[in-house]
Amino acid sequence: MSHLPKIDPEYLTKFLVDLLNIPSPTGYTEEAIAFVEQELSAYPQLKLSRTRKGALIAVWEGVSKDSPRALTAHVDTLGAMVKEIKTSGRLSITRLGGLLLPAVETEGCWVHTSQGAKIRGSLLVNTASAHVHGVKALETKRDEDGMEIRLDARVSNADDVHDIGIQVGDFVSFDPRVELTNGFIRSRFLDDKACVAAIVAAIKSLADSGKAPAQTTYFHISNYEEVGHGASAGIPEDVTELVAVDMAAVGNGQESDEFHATLCVKDSGGPYHHGLSNKLRNLADVHEIPYKVDIYPYYGSDGEAFWRAGGDVAVALIGPGVDASHNYERTHTDALLATTNWILAYLLN
Ligand SMILES: [Zn+2]
Repeated sequence: MSHLPKIDPEYLTKFLVDLLNIPSPTGYTEEAIAFVEQELSAYPQLKLSRTRKGALIAVWEGVSKDSPRALTAHVDTLGAMVKEIKTSGRLSITRLGGLLLPAVETEGCWVHTSQGAKIRGSLLVNTASAHVHGVKALETKRDEDGMEIRLDARVSNADDVHDIGIQVGDFVSFDPRVELTNGFIRSRFLDDKACVAAIVAAIKSLADSGKAPAQTTYFHISNYEEVGHGASAGIPEDVTELVAVDMAAVGNGQESDEFHATLCVKDSGGPYHHGLSNKLRNLADVHEIPYKVDIYPYYGSDGEAFWRAGGDVAVALIGPGVDASHNYERTHTDALLATTNWILAYLLN
């Protein structure tokens, strides 16, 4: 690994924590995209632009230009929208992406109004009070019908809620609850902000080393991955390889763990490109990057979104092991550094 440019781990972690603390449920990603754009604007090597649907593209001209490549990672996360303003002044929600509602029971949240205000609240089961509902507090199903937002505002009916500017369709973001302990990073939405941070840290490390990528490279920061069509647009036609950088699924029966990066060779969308996967595997071997090879049983990626949209490229998927995905997630800096080194090895190859 010694001949790869050095990564600044403090920079990586700080950027990740700052990004985690910016709410960005799918459909409401402007602030997170602008934050990444601001960070990347420090590098004159990059040409920045936005797609019409709001993704960020950074292009870095390579030593060679005959076989352009792309990497993608997404800033959009799980979240919700206001579905109904109830006569009680509570809000029912509809989920954005595969949010697991039991995992956000009692979590603090923000309702983002169409006028740009933020109103605080929390998500509770409808039968929250043990002294009122007894055993029903346990039995109520934790789903969209059984849960509601309690606003931290003096509202007791729907008119009160309308009066403070809340409407059906307002975005709801849940607190990420970021904590760093012993190299572990525990937070909601490490999927996929961990990988956006790895890409940004790799760009910084390569720029600081004074080098350029071997081939012209497009960095696609996606904003609709969690609903399946993030990278379906925005990857130029002359791109020959697309590496999706997204979390690896850790759990029973999985090879992946929180201390390695993983090459995913198959997920719900079928096998990834064998040639590109092998190329990444060889790079990891040569550079002694700690990695696993795995299959994810319930998973789709932006690489497949581009394939489904007709993208004629080789697609592969790498990323850091993330425990308890779409729940209260956790990874370790070892996995983040492994992923960042892998990106660097790829950029330079
Ligand atoms: Zn993801």
